Amino acid sequence: MIVSKFGGSSVADADQIRKVKAILESDERRMVAIVSAPGKRTSDDDKITDLLYKCNSLVQKGLTCRPVFNEISKRFVQIAQKLKIDDVKLSECLDDIRCNIDAGRGADYTASRGEYLSALIISEFLGWEFVDAEDVIVINQDSTVNEKTYKKLQERLEPGKRYVIPGFYGETEQGVVKTFTRGGSDITGSIVARAVNAELYENWTDVSGIYRADPRIVPEATVNTELSYKEVRELSDVGATVFHEEAIAPIYNYGIPIVVKNTNKPEDPGTRIVPESNDFGATAVSARSGLSRIKLRKLMLFKKYGVRHALLTMLHVFGIRPCYSLFGIDSIVWFFDSKMASDSVCQAMCERLTKEFGLDSIEVDHGHAILGVVGDGMDSSDAYLDAAIALKENGIETTFVNYGSSDTSVLFGVKEDQASEAVRVVYKKLF
Ligand code: ASP
Repeated sequence: MIVSKFGGSSVADADQIRKVKAILESDERRMVAIVSAPGKRTSDDDKITDLLYKCNSLVQKGLTCRPVFNEISKRFVQIAQKLKIDDVKLSECLDDIRCNIDAGRGADYTASRGEYLSALIISEFLGWEFVDAEDVIVINQDSTVNEKTYKKLQERLEPGKRYVIPGFYGETEQGVVKTFTRGGSDITGSIVARAVNAELYENWTDVSGIYRADPRIVPEATVNTELSYKEVRELSDVGATVFHEEAIAPIYNYGIPIVVKNTNKPEDPGTRIVPESNDFGATAVSARSGLSRIKLRKLMLFKKYGVRHALLTMLHVFGIRPCYSLFGIDSIVWFFDSKMASDSVCQAMCERLTKEFGLDSIEVDHGHAILGVVGDGMDSSDAYLDAAIALKENGIETTFVNYGSSDTSVLFGVKEDQASEAVRVVYKKLF
């Protein structure tokens, strides 16, 4: 059995959904479809999920979501009409949802309705049974998958039948709708693939696989034919958005292969993601921008037992969860997503840390990026030296290097405004 997940661009309008139908019907092993909410139809279009979050913000400010929700309704009704699906039932459903959003059901419920409506329409169009993710996917408070999910799915999905399941959300054990992080339909697909012990998990998107570098930055970049689970996780961590970084975990110990394919060019082979790849050495380069840096220093900092943990706990209080760290004898450097804290929060955090820990200095600055060169066996490859030389030769300043902490990547800190150039020069040198 094959589990097929279709991303936002694959279900953005009626024409795209017709392509989805053709793909699903071209191989009878495709039994379960996981769908996202409609994404952008053109580059300046809105994703339904973004509009839904906007509705929730309006309601939080005490305003009605009606004008934005009307746009959402229009898109779904248009899709239904073009696919010749009963739009009266859909309109009732949309009215109910709008009332619930206006009544303050919250961000997760609101955001999840894009996938819910998308799956309702697609299940009707295909004539496949709709299974609400709320009934089968149990999500813990920390957004991880609850193990009960697998039993629920196995009990609900009967062999030989075909189903459509909305991605991105589920329910907590307390019965409240909860979403994964953005792009989380990939995680739903992975969970379902494991529950039904799929022979293959297909991830259909709008590109023909995972490129060696973002083709918007390096137009000549080629597609990887095969990557390992570990390589994909590392790549998503450094900014490659094709496959959600948390979507590997559910199947990590089950060895289910994944293939990333293009809904608009189904004949392209795509990228296979397998437990272990046979290729060693660099396979891709990517950069993650939008990072801020905390630098702190105190003489004999680590003399005090547990100081690292205490500092991190304090950062969490200010909503900051660092994604990369470096330690010196008397100093620490942390990088975090700049969206996590405003300048005033950063300032308050610096003052509090200085006071509580008697720091000699602490500063926060912005505009950083992390460039990652990814590939199994990176710890025994010269690729990191080649990458470092390429950066140096092209005048790209590096703020840190992380080599050896993972056998699958080497990371360089660069300035955000040089990140794209850094990707270009490293790509040129390595591939
Ligand atoms: N619709 C959600 C998002 O835009 C989830 C997904 O598409 O996977 O993030």
